[in-house]
Amino acid sequence: MQAAIVTVGDELLAGETTDTNATWLAQQLVGRGVDIQRITTVPDRVADIARVVNEHHAEYDVVLITGGLGPTHDDRTMAGVAAAFGRSLKLNDDAQSWLETHGGYARDDLAAGTTDLPAGAQPLHNDVGVAPGCVLESVYVLPGVPAEMKAMFERIEADFSGPQTHVATVTADEPESALLNRFEELRDRFDVTVGSYPGEYVRVKIRGQNENTVNEAARWLTERVETA
Ligand code: ATP
Ligand code: MG
Repeated sequence: MQAAIVTVGDELLAGETTDTNATWLAQQLVGRGVDIQRITTVPDRVADIARVVNEHHAEYDVVLITGGLGPTHDDRTMAGVAAAFGRSLKLNDDAQSWLETHGGYARDDLAAGTTDLPAGAQPLHNDVGVAPGCVLESVYVLPGVPAEMKAMFERIEADFSGPQTHVATVTADEPESALLNRFEELRDRFDVTVGSYPGEYVRVKIRGQNENTVNEAARWLTERVETA
């Protein structure tokens, strides 16, 4: 299963808020065997949200989008998702009655627009905050507040799965450029991908679907580099 994550918010683009939602979601999804192909951040603007949702929906099996829910003027995500599908926004009766029953809100307490969702979307209830999320085809719309997003993800996590990827890390105490030939040979010999992450040492991450192959590849490399 291939997925894209979209985070929405001017404050993310301005560097005011660190995008922990994207990292957290990626970790959860990868842990379930999902292959993340894109993490994209867009401003609080309907046209930008609609375009990215539309493109990613066409390209990947699932799209998860966080942030910009609720009825305030800079919460544009539901309008963007609705536009991506050519639908209108409409008060969702299920979301409204859930908030009245479980949230303890009277209809008049909720700001106008709180339970407006794209027509035909299935609501995702918010156990921690107010604004509901939704699922529309394979697009999942989640809140921006991390605690709300995490609680809502629990409601949907079973929808995401794929073959488990195995990872082994070899830490090399050599310049990255000196390792290139060995990386090439490693890829020729074993059915794995090789990621090289330089820092104080070079962390070499060997990934593959077959655990034995990954372990053998890691052993092969360990025997041929100066390890840290
Ligand atoms: P609510 O359900 O409360 O209306 P929301 O979906 O409208 O939430 P935003 O208005 O986009 O969420 O963001 C609310 C707060 O959540 C932000 O001020 C920020 O602190 C946090 N937040 C939003 N997006 C992210 C993100 N990608 N990573 C980490 N924190 C985030
Ligand atoms: Mg908000």
